[in-house]
Amino acid sequence: QGLRELLLGHIRDVPDYPKPGVVFKDIAPLLADAPAFAALTDAFAELCEHYAVDKVMGLEARGFILGAPVAVRAGRGFVPVRKAGKLPGETLSQAYDLEYGSAEIEIQADALAAGDRVLVIDDVLATGGTAEASLELIRRAGAEVAGVAVLMELGFLAGRQRLERSLAGAPLHALITV
Ligand code: 5GP
Repeated sequence: QGLRELLLGHIRDVPDYPKPGVVFKDIAPLLADAPAFAALTDAFAELCEHYAVDKVMGLEARGFILGAPVAVRAGRGFVPVRKAGKLPGETLSQAYDLEYGSAEIEIQADALAAGDRVLVIDDVLATGGTAEASLELIRRAGAEVAGVAVLMELGFLAGRQRLERSLAGAPLHALITV
């Protein structure tokens, strides 16, 4: 059984969540399955070697769950990206547009050193707004984008296209694309 099939077999479609017409990809069954969670962690950890990553950056909240074990497995530090207002001390924040309104994410101002190569990890790439804002934070901190890695890319929402400019040639890895 391939990695893609193993992972896909543990992701559940939840219709009409969080609102009517949306089919939510629920990764809880994957997290609850030790071999699948380990295989996912190993696949992301390999990317840390391949792209000479210094720091693993996880996007609140499921990017924390996926990113932290990757950082430990790969022997890299972990940097949380949080929704605005949750981090103590000086922060860098970045606003981005949602379908209705806007959102804001933050890192601590000293979370990244100049020149750090950073791999962004999240569970699902949808419109790409969250990932795009995280790449902007990396750039503003004087660090380098090593890449973006997601468990699942929702191709029909064109997040890959939205990220093209901020990736500036860095890779976007999706273990599954639907
Ligand atoms: P984007 O900014 O790319 O539109 O949305 C991505 C963010 O929303 C990610 O942090 C992701 O966790 C969450 N998200 C959007 N759609 C889904 C989904 O169907 N399933 C899961 N698990 N997360 C989603």
